[in-house]
Formats: sequence, C-alpha cells, structure tokens
Amino acid sequence: MKLVPKDKVIHAFSPHMDPVLRVRAGEIVQFETLDALGGQVQNEEDVMNLDFSKVNPATGPIHVEGAKKGQMLVVEILDINISSDHGVIVAEEGFGVLKNVVKGFKAKILPICDGHVIFNDLSIPIKPMIGVIGVAPEETEFPTGTAHKHGGNMDTKEITIGSKIHLPIFQDGALFALGDVHAVMGDGEVCVSACEVPAIVTVKLDVENRTIEWPIVETKEDLYVLVSLSKLEDALEEATRVAVKMISEARKLSFEEAYMLASLIVDVGVSQLVDPNLTAKAKIPKRYLA
Ligand code: CA
Repeated sequence: MKLVPKDKVIHAFSPHMDPVLRVRAGEIVQFETLDALGGQVQNEEDVMNLDFSKVNPATGPIHVEGAKKGQMLVVEILDINISSDHGVIVAEEGFGVLKNVVKGFKAKILPICDGHVIFNDLSIPIKPMIGVIGVAPEETEFPTGTAHKHGGNMDTKEITIGSKIHLPIFQDGALFALGDVHAVMGDGEVCVSACEVPAIVTVKLDVENRTIEWPIVETKEDLYVLVSLSKLEDALEEATRVAVKMISEARKLSFEEAYMLASLIVDVGVSQLVDPNLTAKAKIPKRYLA
C-alpha cells in the first residue's frame, strides 16, 4: 500500500499543485497527518510561540490517474488511526462562537487512552473524523483553513470511518489531500478547535462520471450536502437548494413538490461555525432518493 508521509504537506489548495504521488483509481492509500497545529503544541505553554504559517497542514496532494475535470472523486474512509497518546484543544480571544467573551490564548492537553479522550475527570468516547479533505479548486487558491466547493476545512463529524466523501473534480488528476484529524468534535466546533490529533488515515480513491456542485458525505443511511460560505444563512440556503434539487431529480418531482418533501425528510444543520467559511449540512435519507 502506498503511503504519503507527514512531511509532504500543503497549507493551501490551489488549482495548480505539484503532486507528491500518483495513484490509479481504485487504489488504497495511507496518509500520515499532523494535527491542525502542525504538531507545535506539545505542552500548554507552547501556544505562545505558535507559528501560524504552519497551522492546518494537509498531507498530499496526490494525483489520481484518469480523474478528469467535471467528474467526481469518491473517497471511502477505511480507517482513521490516531497516532498519539494525547490530543490538544485551544481557545483564543477573537475566535470561536464566543469570540468576544474568551480571553487570551489557552491550550489544554487531552490524554487519550482505551478509546477515550480524558477531560479532567470525564471520559469521552473517541469518534475520529477528518477536518480538512479536498481537491484542487477551479480558479482561486484557498488556504487549507477555508472550505468551499473543493472541500477543505469542512470540520464535519460525519467524515469518519465507513463514510464516503464525494468531491467535485476541478483539475485533471483531482490533486487530493487531507489532514486535521479530530479524536472527537461536536457540531459547531464552538471554541474554534476540537481534540486535535496526528493520525494515519487509510482511504480508497475512485472516480465516477458524475458532476456535483458541492461535497457530499455518504453514510450507511444518509447523504449530507456540505456547503461552506462566509455567511451561515447563505450556506444553509444553498445546502437546502442542492438537497431539493437532488430530491427533484431523483424522484422526478417539480421544484415545489420536492421542496415540500424536503420539509418532511431533510434535516438541515451545522458542521462548524468557526472557520473563515462556515459549513452547513443538509441530510437526506438515502431511502427517499432510491
Ligand atoms: Ca479544522
């Protein structure tokens, strides 16, 4: 199995990137990832010396042979193996949902043992997920901390073991990268970070001849349309529009009927509220699309 080592990282998804590896469609690949802070915070005092240019590394990019602009990359997440006995979480003045309340810049080291994150006297079961996952965008370069149509920092907890993420391909070869694994996170990621950990992620990469507008996560039962825009209301509206369009096409319904059906079966929610673009999700149960 091919492995992309953790020293091959990008800090921006740009339309033209040099791949560090080439794989065939259908191949299984492993990515060694750094944590979202670039591994710089190993004790609680280290935040004061944080080099922000090293934050949000994504391992890659890799070129998928045969992937063409206008198609869809299907990334099946086979495994997320946390490669540390601890994670770190930070809270910083000016960031997060309560940006005007929080003071200073604080870090907390969170031990991980027997499948649990230890927070003081509490044990929280891990549910590893991938925060940054994406491909080369169409025209503009996006820092790895910013999510948009190409994916990026979507911080969506459903991007987890057993899920498939569908990404629109904007450049031949797709140029795929991932990083920013969290041991556990709640919807919203309210304090601006989660339990940030290094990991080894195993994925299977496939290409399908289908065009999509925004990333979609597929779980056993559901599809989640992921839309990331600078205003939450705009992201919620666009995620709803895409979900209604998918229902209308799958069930051959008029817009108005699909809109009504969506009101009965679609759950609209929030992945994260704290990155430069905010991520909304619209969950459609797959059984209603079949
Ligand atoms: Ca993140």
